[in-house]
Amino acid sequence: MVVGMLLYFFIINYWLKWRFRDKERLGIMARGKRKRDKKWMWVAKPGDKIVVSRTAILPSKQLSRRDFKVLEEILNIYSRMLGDVLSHASRNIIESYYRLKNGRYRVLRNIYPNMPSHYIHGLCQDAVERVSSFRRNRARQYSREIFDELVRHLGLGKKDLRGRRLARYLWRRSWEIARHQVDLEMMEGKLVPRINSVSLWLVDDHVWKPIDATKININGVVNTFFTSVAINTHRGWMRIDLEPSKEFYKLLARGFKPTSHAKIKLDRRSRRVLFHLSLEKEIEIYRPGNIKPIDVNENSAATLYEAFAVILETDLTKTTLGYSYRKESIQRRNGSCSREARKAMEKLREGKKKRDYRMKTANMIVRDALRMRGVIVIERISGEDIRVMIARYRDKQLRHRIYQSALKGELNAIIDKAREYGMPVLMVDPRNKSKICPIHKAIIEYGEDRIGICSKGGEKWHREVVALINLYFKALEALYEGSAQKGFGDPSLDGSPMPLGSTTTHEPIEIPRSLWGRWKSLDDHRDVIASLWIKKQSNPKQININDNQ
Ligand SMILES: [Zn+2]
Repeated sequence: MVVGMLLYFFIINYWLKWRFRDKERLGIMARGKRKRDKKWMWVAKPGDKIVVSRTAILPSKQLSRRDFKVLEEILNIYSRMLGDVLSHASRNIIESYYRLKNGRYRVLRNIYPNMPSHYIHGLCQDAVERVSSFRRNRARQYSREIFDELVRHLGLGKKDLRGRRLARYLWRRSWEIARHQVDLEMMEGKLVPRINSVSLWLVDDHVWKPIDATKININGVVNTFFTSVAINTHRGWMRIDLEPSKEFYKLLARGFKPTSHAKIKLDRRSRRVLFHLSLEKEIEIYRPGNIKPIDVNENSAATLYEAFAVILETDLTKTTLGYSYRKESIQRRNGSCSREARKAMEKLREGKKKRDYRMKTANMIVRDALRMRGVIVIERISGEDIRVMIARYRDKQLRHRIYQSALKGELNAIIDKAREYGMPVLMVDPRNKSKICPIHKAIIEYGEDRIGICSKGGEKWHREVVALINLYFKALEALYEGSAQKGFGDPSLDGSPMPLGSTTTHEPIEIPRSLWGRWKSLDDHRDVIASLWIKKQSNPKQININDNQ
């Protein structure tokens, strides 16, 4: 990819700043610091009312040929309109629904007079969403290429990138260049979002409505239930009967209410539609009585369970590496784009397995936090932080794959689950998270493995335990300040035991994936956790067995 002038400008700019870094206190670094001053951030704050949304997929009964044909027609018209609107929105980089609608409404009405007018509302939302996600994804992709190019041009090695500042600076520059490049190419029409699949967006009751809506009462919550809908087409209203779906009932039972947003996908093989219904639940974030720190990294998710530090091993690095080796061997055997290769790749089902582990750990931890009415505490992590962290990995592909899936995915899964239960979530500044001893505030010196020694007190610490306790203290600070300022509830926590005993500090309980993989909650298996603990006490030499470093 040609970055040309821009790249040159930034390299020179970068070099100048790097070269004279000691002579003038660097402007860039100062800016970075100011931004990181904020010590914590509420993702979900106690007392806040939030809206959580979910989608239920309701398959319809088989449609008559005539009805299905009408739907196919309307989807074709919709696709044509979408192509039209999308290229306009992309060339002008419109990411505002109102701006797009105001600009295109008249034009579309004139070209497609038979189409019910409210389809245009959904259409514009659809297009805006496509444009902004396309723009973001492309910029992400370009910024990786530019980063690698910068590193190559500057002749930087692995050692140079170990410093967070430099890597962070390079990523920031790469991202800026990438944004610019993407915008230029979009405006010139070189980059246009491709339309791979289209679903019909129905955003209000002018285009669809439930027919047999009945009020039902589940667990004291009044909700709406229906099994058939009417859809406004260019040939008038059409009735579609839906199959009862477990997913839908479950969401209703959990208090989610149907909204007026829906999407329709056609299932040509069995001549039916898939009705994607959006449901929402308004919920108030509860006031916490406890703190639940969670430390996620590439290979594990750690948390406090009662008096123990528990580490759920996810081994995502190993899993990802394993997959990438297996993929390589498939490609060597079958060529990179043959049908056999594609089939074999699908069989690996990498994404699905990872999502599964992620959902499981998130579920377990969040359920445990709910039991003790805790506030979830995680480190604040931005895309940039993750990129810096994984710049350590030499294998480029692995680096990117981990970046995409593991960390942010895991944190997002936790946040998403927590929000549904109305659980407060606090993000704290991760600086020195595992470097400073929580008791002596002195630096902990780590050797080869994950166990370090406090430079002042001389006691042993396990990296993850330090992180958990530091997160805990940071959260405590946030809660106290919050309550002093706004008086929201009393943060008098019900004295959750802190694992500050002399042995616990360097001996978390590591639970391998083979064990927790079938668990539903930590609390159901407290015996197992306790026995792991006892085993460790009687056989302390095994502590380091799981260190990957
Ligand atoms: Zn210490």
